[in-house]
Amino acid sequence: MSLLQRILGVAPPSAGSTLVVDRTACTGHGICARILSGTVVLDDWGYPILRAGDPDPALAARAVTLCPAAALRWSERRDA
Ligand code: SF4
Repeated sequence: MSLLQRILGVAPPSAGSTLVVDRTACTGHGICARILSGTVVLDDWGYPILRAGDPDPALAARAVTLCPAAALRWSERRDA
């Protein structure tokens, strides 16, 4: 994982990482919910809510890459 990938949060998932949404950056496009339908649901305004549990890593990586606002990213779990 490169330093740039780590900083941008687009690095592939590793053990101890989890998806997070930067709610300030998120513009509610809903692409993440379409890709991760079992993990992300949209609220009444179209903004994502992440459900507990580990998403499919390949689909999650795709959602992170395709998020147009770069609001969906990987973060190290605080409880790991
Ligand atoms: S794809 Fe990105 S901008 Fe769109 S709802 Fe998901 S996190 Fe927000």
